[in-house]
Amino acid sequence: TRDKLIVSEKMASIGVFTAGIAHEINNPINYIAGATRLLTDLVDKQIAREDSKFSEEELASILELENTIKVGVEKTSSIIQSLRNYVHEDGGTFKLYNCIYCIEDALKILRSAYKGRIEIVKNYPEKLIIECMPGRINQVIINLISNAIDAIPEEGTIRIDAYAEGQEVILKIRDTGVGIPLDLMAKLYDPFFTTKDVGKGMGLGLYIVYGIISKHHGKISVHTEEGKGTEFTIELPMRHSDNAMPQMEVIRKNDAVT
Ligand code: ADP
Repeated sequence: TRDKLIVSEKMASIGVFTAGIAHEINNPINYIAGATRLLTDLVDKQIAREDSKFSEEELASILELENTIKVGVEKTSSIIQSLRNYVHEDGGTFKLYNCIYCIEDALKILRSAYKGRIEIVKNYPEKLIIECMPGRINQVIINLISNAIDAIPEEGTIRIDAYAEGQEVILKIRDTGVGIPLDLMAKLYDPFFTTKDVGKGMGLGLYIVYGIISKHHGKISVHTEEGKGTEFTIELPMRHSDNAMPQMEVIRKNDAVT
């Protein structure tokens, strides 16, 4: 059976968010701290011996500890880099913008991840103008399509629909992936909820999507069927202000949809 979940109001507190970051970073920091302690011990022992040399065994340990520290530092900085990417403050103002560009840009960015493996079915017009924060809507589409890509183990299809309905734009991203087990649905938009391996996902994608859609006074819903696939639907109001004039529309140099 298909299940529909419409999340109306779910904004995780800063406390939950901070706890998540702390949890993620705590692990590599513990490794670094442990390795640093062992290195200090080795050096202290050598000093106590009043011997200017380390034994072969000690040198091997030092190299190993150095590597542990390096890996820990890399892990920590990659976590911080992903957080930066997620929260970077671009597209902070509402503009009239052709949201089809957001789809096309997302597909370009993700091309190497789906090329040759996943068929992309595009069902949208060349132009669909909405008042939005373009960079943020682009982020939403990137996050949804990359989840769709991750959900397809081998070959499959991702279908993208976009159309106007009344005063809204509807955007649908459907994949033929593994689907989402019903018992996970309630946690889907929580920060740091992920079923992916360490390093593959931090569980911030849908949390960010939810935040951006809320800021646009939109809605997000999901239909999923285990083993068959998932469809995310986003409804966005076309206009937020009465004085949004069409001439404010942002025209890009490369106006053609490829
Ligand atoms: P991440 O991608 O880092 O795991 P997200 O917040 O984007 O974080 O997604 C949270 C979880 O929701 C994923 O780990 C996955 O289990 C599930 N999920 C999201 N989108 C899909 C999808 N299209 N198909 C199957 N599962 C999905």
